[in-house]
Amino acid sequence: MIGQQHAVTSEEHASGAHFAFTDRWGGVSAAPYDELNLGGAVGDDPEAVRANRERTAKALGLDPAAVVWMNQVHGRDVAVVDGPWHGSGSTAPIPAVDALVTARRGLALAVLTADCTPVLLADPVAGVAGAAHAGRPGLVAGVVPAVVESMTALGADPARIVARLGPSVCGLCYEVPEEMRAEVAKSVPEAWATTRRGTPAVDVTAGVRAQLARAGVEISGQSHICTLESKDHFSYRRERTTGRLASYVWLDAEL
Ligand SMILES: [Zn+2]
Repeated sequence: MIGQQHAVTSEEHASGAHFAFTDRWGGVSAAPYDELNLGGAVGDDPEAVRANRERTAKALGLDPAAVVWMNQVHGRDVAVVDGPWHGSGSTAPIPAVDALVTARRGLALAVLTADCTPVLLADPVAGVAGAAHAGRPGLVAGVVPAVVESMTALGADPARIVARLGPSVCGLCYEVPEEMRAEVAKSVPEAWATTRRGTPAVDVTAGVRAQLARAGVEISGQSHICTLESKDHFSYRRERTTGRLASYVWLDAEL
């Protein structure tokens, strides 16, 4: 399957904001991480991950050293960054956060997922970008309002923020115990869902949309791909041991 053409889908907004989403093809990782695994903490060969990150950055016209990754832990902490952690090329451990915000144009923020919802945000006028990893725990913890708040503190205006949601498990597939659905719906009623089989489910993306709307951010683009149903995407719930997709957001560097 190497060489398939659809490894990275990218979009340039008229304002100079860029949003990109990978699928699982076009990389060098061996099964069960085949092929384009971009996650560094899932058991894959670190050399393969490095090569995949490099080829993806190049395909997007980015310097691989100008992409900031997170050590995601399903929390609500946000880090404000203006460059790569510890400078480029360092292999020191990176901070545990689930959202990044930057006022540095040209710096790309990356979110890793395999069913969770990647949230990409940009206010091109203020020159502020944000990225968040929202799974069920992050949704409940409030990582989405936290990242919008952090962007606003740097001068972004929620009404101006361009928002994109990447591929994630859909509400018809994300089955959970009844009590868990009730627990999530207590904080985010819009996430209450039912599977195709009629069993309790959570719709994380619907919850993210609602939280963004409450924060004054209108979603203008959302992936309709369900990672669990798509053979072209990594899904933790389908495969357990598997790779991670990446979603990237950045603003054009000033000329
Ligand atoms: Zn689905």
